[in-house]
Amino acid sequence: MKDTNCIFCKIAAGEIPSKTIYEDGTFRVILDISPATRGHALIIPKAHYANIYELPEDMAAAAMVLAKKLALHMSEILKCDGFNIIQNNGETAGQTVFHFHMHLIPRYGDDGNQDKICWNHLELSEEELEGICQKLRQ
Ligand code: 5GP
Ligand code: ZN
Repeated sequence: MKDTNCIFCKIAAGEIPSKTIYEDGTFRVILDISPATRGHALIIPKAHYANIYELPEDMAAAAMVLAKKLALHMSEILKCDGFNIIQNNGETAGQTVFHFHMHLIPRYGDDGNQDKICWNHLELSEEELEGICQKLRQ
């Protein structure tokens, strides 16, 4: 399954060169062209799924297992101090390439992103929290 207009389909298929750090029959893992930190990588399925809603469950499971393995491997090699695994879905959530991918971001004490990979905190009342909780439990 491939989208002919999708840059990540072309990269995953090897039609566009990339800095590949891992590849198997299902995934290609590449260095991000505009990295947040040294070693920022992307897990890209070779098949085209726009986002997590489209991604089959077995692929989601396999992507997370691969993320775990690479987090260990990359942390050992790069000697980073922490690690973010981020996955954006939809423009509102910051997705810019509409082919499912997971960001693997090694973190270093001095990487200049301490105040960036974060969010503002809402102050919700007990009733509001309870309302959301009840809705989501349905
Ligand atoms: P998103 O914002 O969709 O979660 O992440 C897309 C990521 O893909 C960005 O971090 C961006 O730098 C990276 N990216 C976009 N185009 C290319 C490309 O052609 N090659 C590589 N290696 N990374 C890309
Ligand atoms: Zn694609």
